[in-house]
Amino acid sequence: MIRKLFSFKGGVHPPQNKHISTQQPIQAATLAKELVLPLHQHIGESAVPIVAVGDQVLKGQKIARAEGYVCASVHASSSGTVVAIEERPIPHPSGFSAICIVIKTDGEDRWIEPTPEALPYTEMPVSHLRNLIRTSGIVGLGGAGFPSYIKLNPAGVNIDTLILNGVECEPYISCDDMLMRERPEQIIAGAKIMRHALQAKQVLIAIEDNKPEAYATLVKACANEDFEVIQVPTLYPQGGEKQLIKVLTNKEVPSNGLPVQIGIVVHNVATAAAIHNAINLGKTLVSRIVTITGDGVAKPCNLDVPFGTPMRHLLDQCGGLRNDVDRIVMGGPMMGFAMHSIDIPVVKTSNCILAATKANVTPPSDIMPCIRCGACADVCPVALLPQQLQWFARAKEFDRAQEYNLFDCIECGCCSYVCPSNIPLVHFYRYAKTEIWAQEREKEKADQARQRHEFRQSRIEREAVEKAARLAKKKAAAQGDNAKKKAIQAAMARAKTKKFDPGNAPKNTDNLSESQQQQVNKADEMRAKAEQIAASRRAQAQAAMTEKTVKTNSDRPAAKKDEKK
Ligand code: SF4
Ligand code: SF4
Repeated sequence: MIRKLFSFKGGVHPPQNKHISTQQPIQAATLAKELVLPLHQHIGESAVPIVAVGDQVLKGQKIARAEGYVCASVHASSSGTVVAIEERPIPHPSGFSAICIVIKTDGEDRWIEPTPEALPYTEMPVSHLRNLIRTSGIVGLGGAGFPSYIKLNPAGVNIDTLILNGVECEPYISCDDMLMRERPEQIIAGAKIMRHALQAKQVLIAIEDNKPEAYATLVKACANEDFEVIQVPTLYPQGGEKQLIKVLTNKEVPSNGLPVQIGIVVHNVATAAAIHNAINLGKTLVSRIVTITGDGVAKPCNLDVPFGTPMRHLLDQCGGLRNDVDRIVMGGPMMGFAMHSIDIPVVKTSNCILAATKANVTPPSDIMPCIRCGACADVCPVALLPQQLQWFARAKEFDRAQEYNLFDCIECGCCSYVCPSNIPLVHFYRYAKTEIWAQEREKEKADQARQRHEFRQSRIEREAVEKAARLAKKKAAAQGDNAKKKAIQAAMARAKTKKFDPGNAPKNTDNLSESQQQQVNKADEMRAKAEQIAASRRAQAQAAMTEKTVKTNSDRPAAKKDEKK
């Protein structure tokens, strides 16, 4: 069955120039003496180093850990010694520097011992499978660098279609083309893993019709698979997710939305191969195929490059730069950006190094005023108003730019490509986006600082109230103690001064009734009689005692008296 294809709005047909770099098979890049591995080679947060200067590392060993949800681990791309963890220039349009782990290679290129999984991926919990992909450091290798495990988590959405993107629509770049020609089995094995993770009903592999060898190879390789390999007409920027989905399915991804919302997931073919290497072979992501091309380099080709290799090293391997080179671009002429130096390292998103002559790119000096021709709007694949966006960006009216859907712009460069005034429109959009993100970060920081301040203030106030309450309680207790002490002292003083006065002693015979009084009187009489009887008895006993004593003394013997003497 021939699949019906659809079209997206806009698009351009720039010269392809892919043949320049496809004349030779993929070659391994020679090992550089020093590899510079940025902690941030992907969309999201930077990884966190887990090695120190002086550590020996093996190829494939994790050297920086992914922390946070949108992050990817970084692994040593060859064996050697960590000689620095410091800021170095990284591939970025603004020529930024960022923290990198620098490895002095030992030339042995020794892999770390793989730790095979006990179960095949089909029997693993899918969450474990995704985590393996995460810890292997795999990100989208089409150029965006979004951590792949996230795109393999549909979060409860039923996935109908997994699309493998082999379109590679950007001129000059041929790394995916060569991968599809030479390593189709890796792509198919990776696609099976992805399909399993997503439980996708169908798998489509899309390839532009300017890559007939790759198409034929994949059709053959998929003979026993239920994957559909589809040739799509060449049109830039068909490799954009939303554009490719439209072409293959006629479905539109909502503005500010993601393909997963309509049950579709798109991954690059090179990402599929990387997932196969990680899951089936236990190899973390340490290298990628990079197209070295352009009229400014002597021997263009595709190299399998360990991450961190300086671009200069690769250009040297390709015969060096020609004298008429104008600039070195990372990426293609449409979406790439010029490097400030060729000592910048290759990272996970480096699909191409374009050594461009003036003839390869539009010279930046020819910029003229906008003539409001509207050509930019005609070719915009997401139906934006590029000219308006440019004005808002220049005037720093970022709110207005966002109202005009600045963030839907995929930075494809079609508008700049057709602009008769050679206005670098995409640069303005990138500038506006960067400024908006910076402002949001500042606002976030300010909000966090304000929250911290408010929390501190409330803590100080709460502690002050608690302290005051404690002091008041203590004071009350002290006052209570003093009052008690004083009462005791007064009681003791009174006791000292007072003597017992039986007459004043409290009686229980006051206020008696008449009958009670009679009983008391009777009892008193009886007690008086009893006392008289007792007194009389005591007197009798005393008299008897006296008489007996007298008699005893007169009866005592004389000898006893002498002895006593
Ligand atoms: S293509 Fe260039 S000149 Fe024409 S409207 Fe757009 S920005 Fe202006
Ligand atoms: S760069 Fe942005 S505004 Fe220009 S054509 Fe592409 S999507 Fe449209």
